[in-house]
Amino acid sequence: MDTMMLQEKLVEKLLCPRTRTTRQKDKQYVGFATLPNQVHRKSVKKGFDFTLMVAGESGLGKSTIVNSLFLTDLYKDRKLLNAEERINQTVEITKHTVDIEEKGVKLKLTIVDTPGFGDAVNNNECWKPITDYIDQQFEQYFRDESGLNRKNILDNRVHCCLYFIPPFGHGLRPVDVEFMKALHEKVNIIPLISKADCLTPSEVKKLKGRVRDEIEHFGIKVYQFPECDSDEEEEFKQMDKELKECTPFAVIGSNTVVEARGQRVRGRLYPWGIVEVENQSHCDFVKLRNMLIRSHMHDLKDVTCDVHYENYRANCIQEMTSKLAQDNRTDSPLPILPLPTPDVETEKLIKMKDEELKKMQEMLEKMQQQMHEKDQ
Ligand code: GDP
Repeated sequence: MDTMMLQEKLVEKLLCPRTRTTRQKDKQYVGFATLPNQVHRKSVKKGFDFTLMVAGESGLGKSTIVNSLFLTDLYKDRKLLNAEERINQTVEITKHTVDIEEKGVKLKLTIVDTPGFGDAVNNNECWKPITDYIDQQFEQYFRDESGLNRKNILDNRVHCCLYFIPPFGHGLRPVDVEFMKALHEKVNIIPLISKADCLTPSEVKKLKGRVRDEIEHFGIKVYQFPECDSDEEEEFKQMDKELKECTPFAVIGSNTVVEARGQRVRGRLYPWGIVEVENQSHCDFVKLRNMLIRSHMHDLKDVTCDVHYENYRANCIQEMTSKLAQDNRTDSPLPILPLPTPDVETEKLIKMKDEELKKMQEMLEKMQQQMHEKDQ
């Protein structure tokens, strides 16, 4: 087979069936219709990664939900502390990573847990280690991105934070408000009402309403689901509407499989009956899983990159440029050292960085001007 034929065969393989038929009819065919499939193949080969943070005081069912979501025991080695040990415990950040594979698609999943959060007698600023951790990941990414080996950057940025609200109270507690306010500009927060089996359906509805009102009242910016495209199918639009209406998700978790209606299901067995984790009339677990894994994982990553990380980056550059301007103003009698001559490749990279910095500076100035205009 000659090269031409081989190439043709490859293009055929890369085309989706619909494009294949159109191609046969169309003589003006160039070939860029294979682009989506090329991207698809490349991404599948590379694999995906996702970092999920769980926060909320201990005992709210965080690890049970994570295990139920990904069907893996991510907390095998967890050591539970007693009350005495917890008195002196400060907020810790722990990381568990697993490689999951499904139908040839690989996902590197990292769970960032925050044991100790909200457990102390005085919870003042207990979210600080968590905000610091998120910032550190941004800082590391910023450094790597500005370095010479940009191809192999390890992305440890937190893409989503599931925040667990207890089912027992009458809405948000001060610690919930303060936590979400401290984090909402750094990470996509998805609030959850945990252990929803403790509440009747009308109590769930009431608590959800309260939480939604308080989130609005305190100006907390939780993750916003993207608008549904107008050309989407009606069924999809309906699902999207239901998803948006049911937030904050009221969830139930379980690490055990029980028998219900002749089937083995993940659930909780009580003397008065069985609560099924995946039964949509019992809780919103399936909606949360579909949203997090099947429909919005990519958007959560995009928002992390385009909004939260961009904010961090813009702040960093602003700080750097104002520091530079300050240093230039102060006449420092530093000796001028001869700089080593950079090679062509490094020079190219420096030029690229300079241009990027210039663009960012212009963007910042524009943003500042817009903010200034808004204030007036
Ligand atoms: P974590 O400390 O937040 O990770 O909480 P765990 O996942 O370890 O759960 C603490 C306790 O709550 C365990 O006894 C779980 O079996 C129980 N639990 C977990 N999820 C639920 C739930 O949805 N409903 C109820 N009633 N109990 C739960």
